[in-house]
Amino acid sequence: MSGKVTLVGAGPGGRGLLTRAGAAALENADAVVYDRLVSEDILDLVPPDAERVSVGKENNRHPVPQDEINELLVRLAKAGKNTVRLKGGDCYLFGRGGEECECLKANGVPFEVIPGVTSALAAPAFAGIPVTHRDYCSSVHIVTAHARAGKKLEIDFESLVRLDGTLVFLMGLTALERVTDGLLSAGIDPRMPAAVIENGARGSQSKVVAEISALSERVRAAGLQSPALIVVGRVCALSETLDWFTPLPLHGRTVAVTRPRERAGTLADRLRALGANVIECPCIETVERADVSALDTALHEKWDWVALTSPAGVPALLHALQKNGRDLRALYGCRFAVLGAGTARALEKYGITADLCPEIYDGAHLAEALVRAAKPGERVLLPRAAQGADELPRILAENGVPFADIATYDTVYRSDKAERLRELLAQNAVDTVTFTSVSTVEGFVNAVGKADFSGLTALCISEKTAEAARNHKMRVKIAKNATIDEMIACLLEEYQNV
Ligand code: SAH
Repeated sequence: MSGKVTLVGAGPGGRGLLTRAGAAALENADAVVYDRLVSEDILDLVPPDAERVSVGKENNRHPVPQDEINELLVRLAKAGKNTVRLKGGDCYLFGRGGEECECLKANGVPFEVIPGVTSALAAPAFAGIPVTHRDYCSSVHIVTAHARAGKKLEIDFESLVRLDGTLVFLMGLTALERVTDGLLSAGIDPRMPAAVIENGARGSQSKVVAEISALSERVRAAGLQSPALIVVGRVCALSETLDWFTPLPLHGRTVAVTRPRERAGTLADRLRALGANVIECPCIETVERADVSALDTALHEKWDWVALTSPAGVPALLHALQKNGRDLRALYGCRFAVLGAGTARALEKYGITADLCPEIYDGAHLAEALVRAAKPGERVLLPRAAQGADELPRILAENGVPFADIATYDTVYRSDKAERLRELLAQNAVDTVTFTSVSTVEGFVNAVGKADFSGLTALCISEKTAEAARNHKMRVKIAKNATIDEMIACLLEEYQNV
């Protein structure tokens, strides 16, 4: 049976402006055919086993010709794959979406279209420009300024000027001067406010606002690059007053988030909401163990405490119980100690309130809290990562608390973003890297390889994590308490002081 093709508009930048329907389509895709403008965190939603085909122009490669894209979509669908055709912005606005659907229709392939937030509207909004405003204009016109090098633009500038609305030109950076000259020759007021917005609606956005007669010179001086669009109209005069984006406290900062994918979300999203340009580059991953018979053996004995040292450890324990044909009742009567608030929350999801949590969230403090709380002879079950630090078991042993350290999952290094990380570090393009555990530091260094980290600020969740970062010569900032809130507070403090 033929698969379906779903055209999805990815929006202008990050995941936040992707529609929910678009995200759902990606999560169900067997194959994804995507353009250059689609951001990485959106591609991260694609299931790992789905086929990915990039058809955009990158690294000096030519873009795949349109008829080849059309054929590819038909071929994938006919092979039974649910295929997503992912495009920057909206899929029907200068994205050749119409041509692709015509071809699908002609070949009897079913298709759907999920519109996206277009850069034509979003970039101005993020640059403080409302595209219409009752006091300034009553229409907005979106025009392509694409032209072959050196060729004249086929734009009816006289008509555009006569409409007296806001004009948005896409694909026009190389033709900027031809656009402004065209409008000026057609009689537009040379003092008409105008703007060019590069990387609109993204953390890396920059803009130039000027009178139209000065625009191309100012843009050249500022060195703006593609993707960028041109806005012309009186509404551009509001750009400073209505700028809500650049005043965000982390605007212009690039922050790399190294946490494992399933936990990166909250930190990354919160940094984005504060205006940061976030690079998600998970450097470690939790892999649950297939052989969990050691837990089964341990459960033949009686335990008084279960100590959990990471949020990932909670589902790992539950799954390990299930693999042994057991469930939570196997731990009936046990008290639960957790390393920190994140782990407590993970446990809460299973209806269990932690009995013990140290004030400082690290292994040593958890061990000390357990030593204080456990009555003589009480025994502690420690289902955790095979690679866990030795402090917790060491302190329990030193204090004569009986325990069993059961390897329930592995923390492994990931490096699928290694090349991108190296590239960014070489360009000095990362301001801060966030580390939420010692293993994220080691995973990061493992991914990047030998490098000079002395220019890098490591935002660390705890003293222990900072120690690992210092060992690699990074400059460290340490959260006051080991929580995501405190990490963010620490980052804000750092940037407010510069
Ligand atoms: N379908 C897309 C547009 C495709 S044409 C949409 O709806 O946004 C590609 C052009 O879109 C680029 O040349 C540039 O002019 C504009 N563009 C796309 N993303 C942009 C962004 N984030 N900021 C500024 N311009 C962007």
